[in-house]
Amino acid sequence: MGNFHPIRVQTMTTTDTMDTMATVEQSIRCIESGAELVRITAPSKNEAENLLNIKNELRKRGYKTPLVADIHFTPNAAEIAARIVEKVRVNPGNYVDKKKFEQIDYTDAEYAEEIERIRDRFTPLVKICKEYGTAMRIGTNHGSLSDRIMSRYGDTPVGMVESAMEFLRIARNESYHNIILSMKSSNPQVMVQAYRLLVNTMQNEFDACYPLHLGVTEAGDGEDGRIKSAIGIGSLLEDGIGDTIRVSLTEDPEFEIPVCKDLVNRYTNRENLSNQVSVIPPIEKISYSPFEYKRRKSFDIGNIGSKHVPVVVADFMLTEKILHQDLTSVGYSYDEQTDKWNIGDAAADYLYTGNNAVDFALPGTLKVICDYSKWKQLVEETPANAQLNFPLFIGREYLQYGDRSAVLNFVSIDTNTEDAWEILQEIRKDDSIVLCLWSTHPHAMASVRKYIVELSNQDIRCPIILAVESHEKIIDEQLIHFSTDTGALFLDGMGDGIWLMNDPNAIQNTKVRGRTYLEAKNNHQFINNTSFSILQATRTRISKTEYISCPSCGRTLFDLQETTAKIRSVTHHLKGVKIAIMGCIVNGPGEMADADFGYVGSGPGKITLYKGKEVVKRSVDSEVAVQELVNLLKESDAWVEPA
Ligand code: SF4
Repeated sequence: MGNFHPIRVQTMTTTDTMDTMATVEQSIRCIESGAELVRITAPSKNEAENLLNIKNELRKRGYKTPLVADIHFTPNAAEIAARIVEKVRVNPGNYVDKKKFEQIDYTDAEYAEEIERIRDRFTPLVKICKEYGTAMRIGTNHGSLSDRIMSRYGDTPVGMVESAMEFLRIARNESYHNIILSMKSSNPQVMVQAYRLLVNTMQNEFDACYPLHLGVTEAGDGEDGRIKSAIGIGSLLEDGIGDTIRVSLTEDPEFEIPVCKDLVNRYTNRENLSNQVSVIPPIEKISYSPFEYKRRKSFDIGNIGSKHVPVVVADFMLTEKILHQDLTSVGYSYDEQTDKWNIGDAAADYLYTGNNAVDFALPGTLKVICDYSKWKQLVEETPANAQLNFPLFIGREYLQYGDRSAVLNFVSIDTNTEDAWEILQEIRKDDSIVLCLWSTHPHAMASVRKYIVELSNQDIRCPIILAVESHEKIIDEQLIHFSTDTGALFLDGMGDGIWLMNDPNAIQNTKVRGRTYLEAKNNHQFINNTSFSILQATRTRISKTEYISCPSCGRTLFDLQETTAKIRSVTHHLKGVKIAIMGCIVNGPGEMADADFGYVGSGPGKITLYKGKEVVKRSVDSEVAVQELVNLLKESDAWVEPA
């Protein structure tokens, strides 16, 4: 692992570590699915000792896959596990410190004393690892930073990096380098910034980088879990950062592996292309900070750009005759009796109709983009059409045709062409232009990013819609493609809209776990959901409830998949509310990050409910806990009745 070795894929068991056979069987299912490392929780000395039985049984059955012990709070367990398995994971937020959510003002001398205390407690583990040839992951979690780090650096990527660096410096002092690091968060924006900052910090301090394990924690399940993970992990892999990945889904661990593989394959296969494609010119002057979010400055044209949330374009180019009911899939349901539209929270803003027209009155929040020739015909026939229909110029058409909308013109540009750079000189003079950027380059995200950086460097402020067309054959692969190519740019403030396209007839596998898209006619819904989920995951446009659910592990006290589904079924309409569903009270409260409400397992059959970081209801019977959560939402004015 590391350097130029392949990117390794891994997962973590969810069984009770004391149940040797169940853990062995589940590990085997993960290994057979392709896991190259298997992590197992070791919450106390007993579980750490039982790792030997698990390892022996696996080796007896011919499985040599490295095992990793997952440690929180218990140095004693780590010191036992490090003598048994190939790698231990420690969380610098809780290896020595106990979290009490206290704000303490440390003097420099007091802070240095704390570091010495960590050195005393952590060095024995380093020595054991050195002696046994055991590897170590220093795994920081955004949600479980120690009170000491929080007091000095706050809940920030800088704090996450410093938390790991304190441990890394101690290990290096012992000349121990068999180390990998991670900077996980359930918020892909924080996660990406923290990894970049870590690389930068290691490079500056040591003139070298240790390998990195990438992951988005508590990503959830189904499409949302895949999208969040792909945005966080994919954005970094796009930049060549990352040596092993884990996709944390609230699903059985073996289901994580195909998603990991799809992600890794995108980049593994690209290496073979490096000699065959044109090189994207390097960015000479970076126009944004990779370490903090700031939206690119753009004009305000209609409802696009500037401070408007990114718009969503629904592509109906292949639908010759668009009917009222077709729009249900993109958030608009029509009631024939009252002749009224009902508009959902995830309703598209623009409809691209290609060379077709819509022959009925659309809801007021939906406008039409059509090809230039169609637009010209429509406005020549009926001038009032110019208020609702806007032209799309494909590349050079913008230079060739003089007729323009007085309000809003869309220009589609493949940033991998000479034309793109020629057009750039013209668009600087036009403040009615929205650019729809895409690229035929195999490194499409980097190609589009190069172009956007150039726009910023030249102070060209047209709004930008990020357009991606996926030809992947599997739904999961399409999700990953869409998420990485647009998500990486949204995370850096570079998009004012999203436009996703695919060929529904080319999709061979129409299943995403939890949902099935059986027919091509559901494709609009799939694309619309994906667009809004990408915007939600990048926190650029909130349209639904956000779930932060842990993947579960040997500490889990209830059926996370079933409970998550139950909670989702009653709260899915609470737009913008963040609900954490965590399997245990040991790590759950710390790791639920910035959730508004928490549902945390606190004992067999018992749940503790949180509002923010505050305990509101303790030891609630799990039979009534979902209803109690709803009551808490009501008491907190976070509830609305479902439509
Ligand atoms: S929060 Fe979930 S994944 Fe994390 S330790 Fe607890 S049960 Fe395991």
